[in-house]
Amino acid sequence: MDIAPQQHWTLRKQLRTLFLLALTFVAFCFLFGLWRVQQFNHHRMEIQNSSLRLQQNLKANFDKTKAIGRIQTQLRLYMQSGKKEHLSETKSEAEALLEEITEENKNILLQFLKKVDILEVRLDSLSENNIKIFQAEKNILTKSGQIIKTLPPEQYFKLRAVVSDACLEHHHLYVTSIISNQSDTLIRIQQQFSELYDEVDKQLVALMAVLPESSRAGMESLRDEYFTLEDGVQTVTSIRITITETQNQTVKVLEQINSAITTTSLDQEGESARLMADGLSLAQRNLVIMSVSLVLAALMFAIIAFFLHTRMIRPLVDFIELLRRMTALLAGMRTKQVSEDENFLSLSNMSDKRHDEIGEVAEAVKRLILRLRELSIFRQTIEADEMTSEIYTRLARIFMHKLGLDTFIIYEKNSKSKGMLPIYCQPPEIEEDLPDFSVADRCRAQRTGTLITSQDDLLICKQFPLHDVMHHVCIPMMVGGQVIGVVQFLYSIDLSRSEHLKITRAIEEARHYILEALPVLQSKHLAEKLEEMATEDQLTGLYNRRYLESSLEQIVAGVQRRQTKLGVLMCDMDYFKQVNDNYGHDAGDAVLIQLAQLLSDSVRKSDMVIRFGGEEFLILLVDCQDSQAAQLGEKVRKVVEEHKFQIGGQSIQKTLSIGVSEFPIDSAKGIWEVIKHADVALYKAKEQGRNRVVEFNLEMWPGDSY
Ligand code: GH3
Ligand code: MG
Ligand code: MG
Repeated sequence: MDIAPQQHWTLRKQLRTLFLLALTFVAFCFLFGLWRVQQFNHHRMEIQNSSLRLQQNLKANFDKTKAIGRIQTQLRLYMQSGKKEHLSETKSEAEALLEEITEENKNILLQFLKKVDILEVRLDSLSENNIKIFQAEKNILTKSGQIIKTLPPEQYFKLRAVVSDACLEHHHLYVTSIISNQSDTLIRIQQQFSELYDEVDKQLVALMAVLPESSRAGMESLRDEYFTLEDGVQTVTSIRITITETQNQTVKVLEQINSAITTTSLDQEGESARLMADGLSLAQRNLVIMSVSLVLAALMFAIIAFFLHTRMIRPLVDFIELLRRMTALLAGMRTKQVSEDENFLSLSNMSDKRHDEIGEVAEAVKRLILRLRELSIFRQTIEADEMTSEIYTRLARIFMHKLGLDTFIIYEKNSKSKGMLPIYCQPPEIEEDLPDFSVADRCRAQRTGTLITSQDDLLICKQFPLHDVMHHVCIPMMVGGQVIGVVQFLYSIDLSRSEHLKITRAIEEARHYILEALPVLQSKHLAEKLEEMATEDQLTGLYNRRYLESSLEQIVAGVQRRQTKLGVLMCDMDYFKQVNDNYGHDAGDAVLIQLAQLLSDSVRKSDMVIRFGGEEFLILLVDCQDSQAAQLGEKVRKVVEEHKFQIGGQSIQKTLSIGVSEFPIDSAKGIWEVIKHADVALYKAKEQGRNRVVEFNLEMWPGDSY
C-alpha cells in the first residue's frame, strides 16, 4: 500500500527545521565565540604592548631622571666650587638629554641652559667681586695699620677695636651670606652689612673728630675703603641673590622636566591599568556569554529531546500497541462480526489528528484494516449465498458501486464444452459485441492462467475486438490450478494519467475481492456440480427422471399460476434395439446423444427435454397453446425421420414414435396422470405401426389412476 505524499508539516520537515535551528545556533555560537576570543586576544596583545611600552617608557624616564639628577649634581658642584669643568659637564649632560625628550620639554630644558649661562656670568662676576672685597679688606687692614701707627694710644685702641669688631662682624655676615641660598636671608644680611658699615662710618667719623689733622686724611681713605667694601658686599649680595634666584629657577625647570617625564609614565601606567580593567571586564563578559550559551544549548537539547519524545517515540509506541491490538482483532474477524470498535476509532483519530509521517502511516494502516475488514465481511456474506450466480452478482455490485468500475464481463467456464460463457455483463449491451469464447482455450487468460493486460501491448489478445478504443485487463479465476472463469475489465484508452492510475488501483482492489471470492466460488461450484450430476443424465446431458421428480411440481405451479397449458410428448425410438444389435452398444449411445441434441434443438429454451429411461424421452412444453403439442410432436418426428445419425463413419436413419397429452386437459388428477396418458398414446403409436404421433384420448386409457 502506498502512502500518498502530503504537503503537511511532516515529521521530516519538523526535524529538519529543528536541526537547522540547532545548527544555526551552534554555528552562531561558534562564530560569536571566535569573535570574542579574537577580541580578547587583541585586547591581550594591546595590554602586552602597553605594558612593554610602559616598561620601556619607565626605563627611558628613569634614564632621563638619572640624567637630570646628574645635571643637578654637576650644577651644584659648579655652584659650590665654581669649577668650569662641572659647568661644561652640566651642559653636555643637558644637551644629551635634549635629544631624548619631547619638544615641549625641550623648550623647558633650553630655558634651563639659558639660566645656566646666566649663572655662569653671575658666578664669574661674583668671583671678581669677591676678589675686590678681599682686596678692600686687605686695604682696610693695611690702612688701619698705617693710621694706628700715627694715632695716640687712646685712639689707637679705639680704632683697632672698631676695625677688628667690624672685621669680625663682616666675616660673620659674609660667612652667613655664603651659606645662605635664600634671597630674603641675603637681603636681610645685606641690611645688616649696611647697618654695620653705617655704624663703622659713624665711629670713624667720631674718631676723626678727635684725631689730629695729619691722621684725618688716612681716616678718610679708610672710610673710602669701607665704602668700597660696602659697595663690593652690596654687589656680591645682589649677584648672589640673582644666582640664588636663577639657581632656584633652574631647580624648578629641572623639576618641571622631571614632573613632565613622570606624568608621561603615569599616563602610560594609567593606560595600562585601563587596558587591564577593560581586559578583565571583557573576560567577565565572555564568561557570562559562555554561560548563557551553555544554558541555551542545554535548552535546545531539551527541546529536541522533548520533541523526539512527544512527537515521535511516544506516538510510535502507542501506534505499535494499537497495531498489536488490531492484529489480534483481525485474527478474530473470521469468527465474529466486526463492528466499529475502540481500536479502530483510536486509529482513525490518530490519522485525522496528525499530518506527519506517523499520521500517514496510521492512515495507510487504517485503509488496510478497513479493506481487510471489508474483504472479511464480503467473504462472510458470500459464504452464506446459495448459488455462484449470487456471488457473481455481488462481486459485480462491488465492482460498480464501490470501486467505480463500470465496464466488465464475468466469464464462467462451461464444464462440458470447456469454453467460457459470459454470465455477467456491465453494461448489459456489451454482450452483443463479445468475442466467442465458447470454444476451449480461445481466451488467453483462461489458457495461460495469468493476468492479461493490454497496458503494455495493445494487441496482446487477438480476440479482443476493441483494442483501438479500450484497454482490457483479464483476471483469471484460478482454483487448485484450474481456471474456473475470467473477469475482464475494460476502460477507455484515452484516460488521463491520474484517471488511469485510479482505475488501475480499482482493478487491483477488485482482484483482491476476486481472490477472496475464489475459494467460496469453488465450493459453491462443486456443490452445484454435484447437484447437477444428480439431476443430469450422464450420457446425453439432459435432465434425468430424478430432476423431473424434484421440479415437476414447481413447473406445474407456474403453468397453473399463468393459467396456460403444459404439453407432454413421450418419445421412443423405433426398433432401437436393432442399432445395438447391428452396430454395437457404442453406436447405440452415439445415436442416443444425437437424438437428445435433435430434441433439445427442436424445442424452445423454456421447454424441458428429459431422458425418461433407455431410448425414451419426455418433452415438457411449457405454456403451450391448444393442439400445439401435437404439432410440435409432428415437427420433432419429421426432424428425426430426416436426420442421418452418424455412427463410426456410417450414417443411418431412424424414426420416432410420440405420444401426446396435455395438462390440465387430459387429466384433472395431476401431472403424473397426464404423463401416463402420453405413455399410453405412445403405446398406441407403436401399435399403429410406429413413426407417428398419437394424441391421447380417454378411450385409450379407461383407468382412473396412475
Ligand atoms: P420398439 O420399436 O418396440 O421400441 O423396439 P425396440 O427395439 O426399440 O424396443 P425394446 O424396448 O425392445 O428395446 C430397447 C433397447 O434399448 C433395449 C436396450 O438394450 C436398449 N437400450 C436401453 N438403454 C440403452 C442405452 O443407454 N444405450 C444403448 N446402446 N442401448 C440401450
Ligand atoms: Mg422403448
Ligand atoms: Mg424403442
